[in-house]
Amino acid sequence: MRLEGKVAVITGAASGIGRATAMRFAAEGAHVMAADLDDDGLAKLVDELGTTSKEISVLQMDVTSREDTLRLVDQTLERFDRLDILINNAGINRDALAVKIKDETPHYLDDSQWDPVLAVNLKGSFLCAQAASVPMIRQGSGHIVNTASVAALGNIGQANYSASKAGVIGLTRTLALEWARFGIKVNCVAPGATRTQMTAGIPDKIRDALLEKIPLRRMAEPEEIAAVHLFLVSNEASYITGQVLFVDGGATVGV
Ligand code: NAD
Repeated sequence: MRLEGKVAVITGAASGIGRATAMRFAAEGAHVMAADLDDDGLAKLVDELGTTSKEISVLQMDVTSREDTLRLVDQTLERFDRLDILINNAGINRDALAVKIKDETPHYLDDSQWDPVLAVNLKGSFLCAQAASVPMIRQGSGHIVNTASVAALGNIGQANYSASKAGVIGLTRTLALEWARFGIKVNCVAPGATRTQMTAGIPDKIRDALLEKIPLRRMAEPEEIAAVHLFLVSNEASYITGQVLFVDGGATVGV
């Protein structure tokens, strides 16, 4: 077991990639603090793991609230006494063209689509990293893995999402520089299309076009991203910091 006794906070753990990561980390011996807005999803995760106990605790919280992120870290320390790993995974999308002109009228990607995406994906990652860094600095060790996306390189209909994920890459590189002297490694996973609730609603025609652009000709399974999280927080990755690992079936090769 590669994470025996390690304490891991995972945000967005009620669904998709976060859920798969929580299950994998628990199976690898970690104590998991699973955080999400979605209380029902967290309850299902606990049911599936077959225990309310040692390996997993859950907290309903909102990553955009500083108060909630501090509460998340406080409760983790109360329950487990230390904090070794933060997986900053919670994320949302609100896709639209930046501007669409229909019948002479401009329709803008508006504040209700821009603000929450930037708040959850970028500010939420920053707030969680700040809160987690304090016990990690005191311990002199820690791993933080942020979540970007291939969309950070640009994607039609995702100006908000792409900007948030490109921001996450800058955040990763900066925090890696600031916190290396405390023994904290900060890296970033940039998944390509992954089979989760986030991609479930993609219309067939767009899905087919998407698969055409992926050399491996399929979407990732959430467990394949969880495996990369595991690698990046394991001893095998002890000399890696400030990096972005694209896990995309080759989609960005040659881009
Ligand atoms: P998902 O929708 O299955 O899971 C996201 C989880 O985040 C949900 O459980 C949701 O409740 C939670 N969440 C949303 N807002 C939150 C908030 N304010 N506070 C706490 N929790 C919140 O999505 P997923 O596909 O598993 O995505 C996980 C991460 O991977 C996201 O950051 C996403 O942007 C990124 N990503 C996904 C894909 C993909 O194709 N699925 C591709 C690239 C990157």
